[in-house]
Amino acid sequence: MISRRAFCKGSAVSAGLLLNACRSTPFQHTAAPHVVVIGGGFGGATAAKYIRKLDPGIKVTLIEPSEHYVTCPGSNWVFAGLKTIAQLTFSYRALADKYDINVIHDYVTAVDPVKHSIRLSEGSRLRYDRLIVSPGIDFRWDTIAGYDQHTAHSIPHAWKAGEQTAILNRQLQAMADGGTVVICAPPNPFRCPPGPYERASMMAHYLTRHKPKSKILILDPKSQFSKQKLFMSGWEKYYGYGTDHSMIEWISIPDNPVIQLDVNTKTVTTDFADRYTADVLNIIPAQKAGVIAEKAGLTDDSGWCPVNHQSCESSLQPDIHVIGDASKHSPLPKSAFAASSEAKVCAFAVVNLLNDQALMAPAWINTCYSLIAPMHGISVAMVYKLSPDGLVSKVKGSGGLSRQSDEKSRILESGFARQWYDSITADSFL
Ligand SMILES: Cc1cc2nc3c(=O)[nH]c(=O)nc-3n(C[C@H](O)[C@H](O)[C@H](O)COP(=O)(O)OP(=O)(O)OC[C@H]3O[C@@H](n4cnc5c(N)ncnc54)[C@H](O)[C@@H]3O)c2cc1C
Repeated sequence: MISRRAFCKGSAVSAGLLLNACRSTPFQHTAAPHVVVIGGGFGGATAAKYIRKLDPGIKVTLIEPSEHYVTCPGSNWVFAGLKTIAQLTFSYRALADKYDINVIHDYVTAVDPVKHSIRLSEGSRLRYDRLIVSPGIDFRWDTIAGYDQHTAHSIPHAWKAGEQTAILNRQLQAMADGGTVVICAPPNPFRCPPGPYERASMMAHYLTRHKPKSKILILDPKSQFSKQKLFMSGWEKYYGYGTDHSMIEWISIPDNPVIQLDVNTKTVTTDFADRYTADVLNIIPAQKAGVIAEKAGLTDDSGWCPVNHQSCESSLQPDIHVIGDASKHSPLPKSAFAASSEAKVCAFAVVNLLNDQALMAPAWINTCYSLIAPMHGISVAMVYKLSPDGLVSKVKGSGGLSRQSDEKSRILESGFARQWYDSITADSFL
């Protein structure tokens, strides 16, 4: 490993908070170390940018197949007409031009941890001193018979935003009044724990205005879900939840999950042979780390990537760090906010390791906002710290849930949700 001069001493850092204090210290370089980042989502883009901000002497290459990134945060708002896909789309130009990151639009097909190199789909190889892997999620296509990458073109998951979101929105808009939307929620752990329930809320907002006789059924393999009481009280207020005329029905079937799909009739069948037929069917399958993580030998039996939480370095492969949804950072959820927080911890760690400096004791933050109606926002927030056993633990007394009955706060939080979106996308991509 290349040895470089000290620059950012200290024993504790809350991710991002000490950045400005650390960034202006000069260096003497022996050679430019090279960090390669796989994946230009919230994790990868933020890590690439913050490494360049912390230490302009480190060369950073970001590899991402798409020329534009469409954010999943905000993508449920498309169903209520509150955002367009164009408004959720970011280019990588600022990362290349402002931060001098070498952005390559290609797909990584292999990682060689011994030779410290990665291979791109067009065949060339790149060497790295440290590799950061942030490929997000992939789906466990073997869990629902009849549902695969091909059928997802007509039965969208919309759990990777962009064309999938647009397909589902077109189907919702084409549905006749009185139609049934079925959302098959995924089992834990999955990307964005409140996401399926915010989706039902945003669809219900659209349907109450345009197709009020319609229904939304959420088939859930879980017996509880994130911010459940807050969602349900919002559903009572806007969508008649708990009455015979409720637009949303939550059907919890932990012992009886959906196991089969008939594409032609849009019918799903559960383990006990219950059948649900939809006019619009949204299947969000079970998830695992993005496939490149598995190919690189970074996943364990769970399908996710175990890491040393202080550095985000893989527990299975040296000099490779894993962040974002693909990594095991529980009790941090798989969210864009958490991915950004992990990216900053990782950026500090990688810079310190390349400068032969001690690692710092990190802290992480997460807030997940959801909209139940355009002017009704709810949130769950938490601060996390590194516990003495090296795991991530919640800071007692921090964070918490929105207060249920406080009407004014619901309006304020709907504004906070929109402001949070603007600030996190600027922090990652601008
Ligand atoms: C409907 C929905 C709503 C959400 N709302 C919120 C919200 O309100 N707040 C919140 O905090 N989170 C939210 N999330 C969660 C959030 O989107 C994810 O947690 C976040 O995107 C994770 O970032 P990531 O970098 O791990 O993965 P991603 O953002 O998915 O980025 C991974 C990138 O890696 C690239 N990639 C994959 N494989 C390779 C390869 N082999 N080579 C090169 N590149 C590769 C992909 O193209 C992709 O661009 C939501 C998610 C959904 C689905």
